[in-house]
Amino acid sequence: MKYKRKNYFVDGVKSSILAKKFSTPLYCYSYKKIRDNINDLKKNFNNLNPLICFAVKANPNKSLLSEIGKLGLGADVVSMGELMKAIKAGIKPDKIVFSGVGKTNIEIDYAIKNKILLINAESKSEILEIEKIAKNKRRKVDIGIRLNPNTDAKTLSQISTGKKENKFGVSEDTFLDLVSYVNKSKNLNLKCLSVHIGSQILDIKPYQKTLKILDKIIKKTKYNFEYIDLGGGMGINYKKGGKKLNLKKYAEDIIKFKKKYNSKIIFEPGRSIIGSAGILISKVIYIKEGGKKSFIILDAAMNDLMRPALYNAKHQIIPLIKNNSKSKKKYEFVGPICETTDKFLSTKNFQVLKEKDLVIICDVGAYGMSLSSNYNLRPKPTEILIKNSQIKIISKRQNLKDLM
Ligand SMILES: *Cc1c(COP(=O)(O)O)cnc(C)c1O
Repeated sequence: MKYKRKNYFVDGVKSSILAKKFSTPLYCYSYKKIRDNINDLKKNFNNLNPLICFAVKANPNKSLLSEIGKLGLGADVVSMGELMKAIKAGIKPDKIVFSGVGKTNIEIDYAIKNKILLINAESKSEILEIEKIAKNKRRKVDIGIRLNPNTDAKTLSQISTGKKENKFGVSEDTFLDLVSYVNKSKNLNLKCLSVHIGSQILDIKPYQKTLKILDKIIKKTKYNFEYIDLGGGMGINYKKGGKKLNLKKYAEDIIKFKKKYNSKIIFEPGRSIIGSAGILISKVIYIKEGGKKSFIILDAAMNDLMRPALYNAKHQIIPLIKNNSKSKKKYEFVGPICETTDKFLSTKNFQVLKEKDLVIICDVGAYGMSLSSNYNLRPKPTEILIKNSQIKIISKRQNLKDLM
């Protein structure tokens, strides 16, 4: 995904052609980038031989899931819808883990029926519910228990999940109680200790701290966990030249940890697999001069890409075709929605744009389309995948008719 002279290309395809052919706003994914991201993780974690389960909530597109499955990954799901989609996309149930604090009895029943690898439970009540359903079915169900390690992931507070004030997982004391409870159950089989401390983590320290806490707790339980699920959260570079998570070091620390227990390691990455593999192409509808800056009103909005409005996340915006304008402008890129937070980015030095020009919002593959909505009754955009220079529509733009 790069410029060749003035034009931006995705896997060998000129992106201006895509915009013309499929109209905008348009989500476009690079197969090569997905594969490279997966290979990068695999390479760093090579000595661990982990099961890598893609966090489906980052992007639940069926074609993408199917490609990710073919590249050897399993799935981490958080709802019945995601579980169904993962199975439909060809991911084998024995590579699927089910997370989430509020699984309903219908969802648990469905997961048990499909014989997935693990249900990672997050409370005593949930464990009792799983046990009840398993008993009714005369089954022994494999579960994990999610620990809340009370560690600060040092990321945005809205995407932190591992502190004791967060709703996720159980405290150390509860964890120890639950281990002995599940041990006595005839219908539950305790296989896994899971953690997931947050998302977009770039600092290795919270991960290291979590490993230390796990170490301490596993010793206390004296239990032999077949799996240790370390969750996802590996951060990506939304800014050129920004900080990078030291995956190699993280892998070395996990190897040391694993030697003591010989459990199989599971990861649940979402963002680090698909985030950098997607762009959103958008057209300038109007330019509105406003004092010291100009508003660039795009045809993409917060309903298409929610992260800036939801977390104040910053996504780089670049021109689809570079011009040679020497003068640079101060722009604020906004969407057409009637909300002040429908705003993508303020830039200081952007090339001079005119109406109908095209821009690219970068790194939107994760939590882009999956967080999209029909707010303002706007149809959801088309998604396309470029694989070996072949263009495939993987989700069609919604019709206004569908919304009436
Ligand atoms: C969201 C989530 C993930 C994925 O997080 P990323 O930051 O996208 O890697 C993994 N595990 C669980 C339990 C989650 O809720």
